[in-house]
Amino acid sequence: MTDDELEHDHAALMRTLDRLEGGGARIPCRAAPVRSSVIWISEDPAEQAVAAARCQGCPALEECDRFGLAHTREGGVWGGRTVAERRAVARRLRRASAA
Ligand code: SF4
Repeated sequence: MTDDELEHDHAALMRTLDRLEGGGARIPCRAAPVRSSVIWISEDPAEQAVAAARCQGCPALEECDRFGLAHTREGGVWGGRTVAERRAVARRLRRASAA
């Protein structure tokens, strides 16, 4: 994925989150107090696991997961998966599509 694709996909996801929030939905990573929201970008696997669990129930979970799997160079938790989980799933998907 190129930087332009990353920027495009990130902007699309942010528009979705803005729209959902505008409709009254709660987006866990945005609703968390600033002090707590850092776990979504933490490098600590234990904190990432907590953030990933808090993603469950997010109305953007599927779209965010697609973003996270498409952009595995990005750090952080996306779509309810930690960095390691996203990279492992993306590898499996690449192997399956090459078979
Ligand atoms: S799935 Fe998780 S990281 Fe993605 S928008 Fe929702 S709460 Fe944030």
